[in-house]
Amino acid sequence: MGIEIRSRSASGSKVGVVLVLLLWSAGCSHRAPGTSNVVVGSAGQSGAAGDQGVAGTTSTGGGDAGNAGNAGVSGAAGATPGGKAACLDSPNLKTALPYTPGYTIAAADKTAAANTVKSMDLSAKIAQLYGPNTSGYDDIFRTADAGGIKGFQFRDGPRGVNLDPVKGAGKGFATTFPVAASRGATFDVDLEYKIGQAMGDELVAAGGTMLLAPTVNILRHPAWGRAQETYGEDSFLLGRLGSAYTVGVQEYVPACVKHYAANNVEKDRSTVIAKMDEQTLQEVYARHFGMIIQDAGVACVMAAYNLVDTDGTPKNCTQSKHLLTDVLRTQYGFQGMVLSDWWAMPGRDSAPQNTWSANAKEAIEAGMDMELPWKMQFSALASITGIEPAVTQAAQRVLETKFRFHVASPTGVVGLKAPTVGFDLGTYSISKNDAHLALAEKAALEGTVLLKNDGKVLPIKSDGTIKTVAVVGPQVMWRLPGINSSGTINFASTVRLGDLGSSRVNADPTKSTSPCDGVKAQAPAGVTVVCGDGAAGTAMAKTADFIVAVAGLTPEDEGEEYTITPTDADRSANLGLDGKTGGLAQNAYIAQLATDNPGKPLAVVLEGGAAIDVSSWLTKVPALVMAWYPGQAGGAALGKLLFGKDKAGVPVSFSGKLPVTWPAATADLPPFSGNGGNSKTTVMAYYLGYRWFDTQKKAPLFPFGHGLSYTTFEYSNLQVPCTTATAKSVVSVGVDVKNTGTVDGEEVVFLFAGYPGSKVATRVDGYKELKGFQRVAIKAGQTAHVTIPVRVADLWYYDVAAKASKVEPGMVKVMVGGSSASLPLTDTFVVQ
Ligand code: BGC
Repeated sequence: MGIEIRSRSASGSKVGVVLVLLLWSAGCSHRAPGTSNVVVGSAGQSGAAGDQGVAGTTSTGGGDAGNAGNAGVSGAAGATPGGKAACLDSPNLKTALPYTPGYTIAAADKTAAANTVKSMDLSAKIAQLYGPNTSGYDDIFRTADAGGIKGFQFRDGPRGVNLDPVKGAGKGFATTFPVAASRGATFDVDLEYKIGQAMGDELVAAGGTMLLAPTVNILRHPAWGRAQETYGEDSFLLGRLGSAYTVGVQEYVPACVKHYAANNVEKDRSTVIAKMDEQTLQEVYARHFGMIIQDAGVACVMAAYNLVDTDGTPKNCTQSKHLLTDVLRTQYGFQGMVLSDWWAMPGRDSAPQNTWSANAKEAIEAGMDMELPWKMQFSALASITGIEPAVTQAAQRVLETKFRFHVASPTGVVGLKAPTVGFDLGTYSISKNDAHLALAEKAALEGTVLLKNDGKVLPIKSDGTIKTVAVVGPQVMWRLPGINSSGTINFASTVRLGDLGSSRVNADPTKSTSPCDGVKAQAPAGVTVVCGDGAAGTAMAKTADFIVAVAGLTPEDEGEEYTITPTDADRSANLGLDGKTGGLAQNAYIAQLATDNPGKPLAVVLEGGAAIDVSSWLTKVPALVMAWYPGQAGGAALGKLLFGKDKAGVPVSFSGKLPVTWPAATADLPPFSGNGGNSKTTVMAYYLGYRWFDTQKKAPLFPFGHGLSYTTFEYSNLQVPCTTATAKSVVSVGVDVKNTGTVDGEEVVFLFAGYPGSKVATRVDGYKELKGFQRVAIKAGQTAHVTIPVRVADLWYYDVAAKASKVEPGMVKVMVGGSSASLPLTDTFVVQ
């Protein structure tokens, strides 16, 4: 018989996991799929009062119609061949996954907005639709108070609340989380929800009223300069994490999801044309925006700089009726407001005045509601005949957003909730944020990925064999002509937060931990840690017993366009460590360490926003860690991870997994930008990331989902509860995951869907899509029963001829395992 230990997620209610101590006996066949299951523990326990309807939290087996709360089998129509139930339309479709409240705009807020708009004349309405009346660059994060309505105070995310523009260096501190690329690697929606809450909280404390985040552009190629700002390469992952984050932020203030759509190249970002077919736009580049709209009820969408061309006529995102109305509102049911990225209207910050009227008309009629950052082209609206209905609609959307989040009144408290943190006006900084700092460390712990660990050199042994650890790294100079800034990174001892573009966040240096300090702080008794930069580090390494070499990218190697212009902010074409700044410095530095110290344990820790070419030295180093830009608590997390425990002896293991595919060579990827001779157009093809490698039948260096641990996990007992499913059902797939090692660990379980025999042309042999994932903590020797609800509606494809998204009838192959390349368990169901 089995004894179940039900585990609630830290958020209290939202994880579909039941831990099972499997005390197997001969009669333990109740776990076989298709049998009439013995549910250990009653359905009433399940579930978890207050649970937002996470399907399957109680399930210990498929097909048990008695699993109240299991949306996967609710409405089951009895046995079908194989003894399984049919998954029929689920009443819980909308709540099958957590963080899916949709829109909850109170009627009173809508009415208040409507009444206010009614009381306004044309110019009062237009006054709601742009930034301040200036052409200066130091006042670009607000709209003015007008007509008794408070203007917006914008701040950027997504790695924290960017308070830097307000006071400059040494001030404006806010909690600096790991960048989104790292948070993608956590695959932890509960954590991302809490990070969203934390940023909403800090924004309100700082008097902000809209957070310009999350960034959910698809990482179609590691060369994108802003790779670090997004969660990865997969639409479903972006949609889920972006939703969780948005729900967290919006407990306080509106979130603005960006950059819509297909903003995937920094060079010439204002004029680049993203060319793709309609199916690619719908399924790959817009899909996750749709999830964050429909699931999370996001308040605002930011229209991107670039142009999108799906039909031979490139359109600015700010002026595309197809993007802003047909897709956003008609298809997805978006109920918020659209604002422009900063100077994203045609002509940017220097659009000739005689173009304003036509540009503004096209934009507002396309569905763009607010021009930022200046009062500029939208000021021409006042003299356009017949424009009032469009202006009224835009003003209604803006005001509805303000009333919905209690940020309309020029006086009094802003936002839906009072902040938990403090705010120091003198330093313009967040205070009392210890809980958020702990969250930042947790994110770094979960997001750091152990890519290679030959001979189990990690964790650093504390059995007396390792007496000295040297934390070393190259010194690399960088310069950013665009913002007239330069510096040197000492990789061993510099706290790495990310690029210096709009998502930069100032971290309090007294509360930030570098790799060197983090490793020192966690060293167990008997282990001495020494740190050295550059040549000093190379020398120190020679006498140490263990070498930690930290290397990575600089703000010159990758970042947001305006920081680096006039040169290119995207990565250098070779994706190398020495891409732009270091000559051969970093690769040579690492290779030298390996040569100087043959046989000595050496772990290379990389910092960067996406995959880095490691081919010149990978075979020479036994361990490789991807730390991304780990935020202000990154060093503390690194110390614990490298030693495999914290100072108190509590075991800590790596559990991050790659949210991107790591190619063996740049040549294995589709071209990053350009289209033959036309550098302004970039063809964004349907397949990217793991879908590209899968369908090209190429092996990457490290697949999507790859990430090692100090323990091992074994998958068994896949349970797909039904043989047939309707397009509106939820199929709650169950699987047992056993921690087969000797230390506690966390595993991310992936569920991919394939479509054998599909008639959809793009669903070729080898094609599969991520449709579910779940992080779960499992103690050594124990087994967790993990339930992953699949909303069959999420399996849609875009039928170009019918101009509609459709769920294809036919067989769905469910594949479950620990990475996109390790999916040992498969089963099928048929969509009717
Ligand atoms: C960036 C946006 C940002 C905005 C305001 C733009 O340059 O693309 O992500 O929200 O500036 O800082």
